[in-house]
Amino acid sequence: MKIRSIHAFPIASDLLGGPPTTAERRPAWTADAEVASPMSHFPRFKRLRSSWRPRWPSVACLVTADDGSWGLGMTRYGTPVISIINDHLAPLLVGETCTDTDHVWNLMQGMTSPYAGGLSCYAVSAIDLALWDLKGKLLGQPVYALLGAPARSHIDCYATGNDTDWILELGFQATKIACPHGPADGVRGLDANEALVAQTRAAIGAERELMVDCWMAFDVDYAVSFAQRMVPHRLRWIEDCLMPDDLDGVRSLRERLPGHGLAGGEHWYTPAPFASAAVNRSLDVFQPDIGWAGGMTGCLKIARIAQAAGIPVMLHAGMNTAYGQHFTLAVPNATMGEYFVGSAPGVPLAEVRLTPGTAVPQDGRLVPSDAPGFGLGLSLEQAQALAL
Ligand SMILES: [Mg+2]
Repeated sequence: MKIRSIHAFPIASDLLGGPPTTAERRPAWTADAEVASPMSHFPRFKRLRSSWRPRWPSVACLVTADDGSWGLGMTRYGTPVISIINDHLAPLLVGETCTDTDHVWNLMQGMTSPYAGGLSCYAVSAIDLALWDLKGKLLGQPVYALLGAPARSHIDCYATGNDTDWILELGFQATKIACPHGPADGVRGLDANEALVAQTRAAIGAERELMVDCWMAFDVDYAVSFAQRMVPHRLRWIEDCLMPDDLDGVRSLRERLPGHGLAGGEHWYTPAPFASAAVNRSLDVFQPDIGWAGGMTGCLKIARIAQAAGIPVMLHAGMNTAYGQHFTLAVPNATMGEYFVGSAPGVPLAEVRLTPGTAVPQDGRLVPSDAPGFGLGLSLEQAQALAL
């Protein structure tokens, strides 16, 4: 079966299924919380990340086979990613065999190599995920079965978000908070960060796991100071401390923080930086995003590199998509899944999922759909109707 067409189009970044029907108890933490970022040094852009991030829509990519079968992939960064798919890759991939996911991935990596980086990888990811969805449908199997069968009966999820009371009510046994302050806020910011971690640890008790996400906002010295203050609060890991291209910085952090858990990789693209981190053992947890780092094929390569080095892979926000759920059910060293809770307390998670077939955690666990492909739960008409 050959690829007949590949077409990317813009979709809404927020809810595809319409607004939730249950009233919120209060606005979600994401509505107003300050989160430290690489822009925290610039007063005009410090307060909210939305003040400087692009307003491009999200992206859907529809791959159609000769017989009319189709698969759907999704990613981010609108217009430029859509252009890479529709103007460059799509016409060159028509006629390739739909089930040749590894071959097509290698073609795309080569074709985008002269301008490779973040945006090309988002485009590769969307096409690759659509091909895996299509392959599952053509073979009548859920994608996790194509990956070699489930490695586990269910996925244990941790929740990321700063509405800790709501996360506890939802039944999660592990949680990660976003760090509000970075080096721009000096010692007072360090004090406030520690106070938030201490307050969260007190709320969740000693039995649950706690992590902190630093979203590229720190430098090495600040990360070391922060980590040393965290010792009494028993964090499982500190995440994404440095700017993503600072691989030497990640190694330096490892050397200066023996015994501390370090995680990262959500802003790394292609398997190459993960291979470097595996050789250096500079991170304890790899966190590629399946919609950004090269799709299912790219993340499988990363997972095998990690497995050989004894490193777990926990996809960035992997439990918010069916793509991440199928990967995590099947991959042996994908030992826990991240569910990002950005919705308001009181609104059931089932009302805020992105696509209808995507499973949501119950008491911190989930099992993905066993429908063919990723079980996205959309008809072709519904998928096409996502277009803005
Ligand atoms: Mg993160």
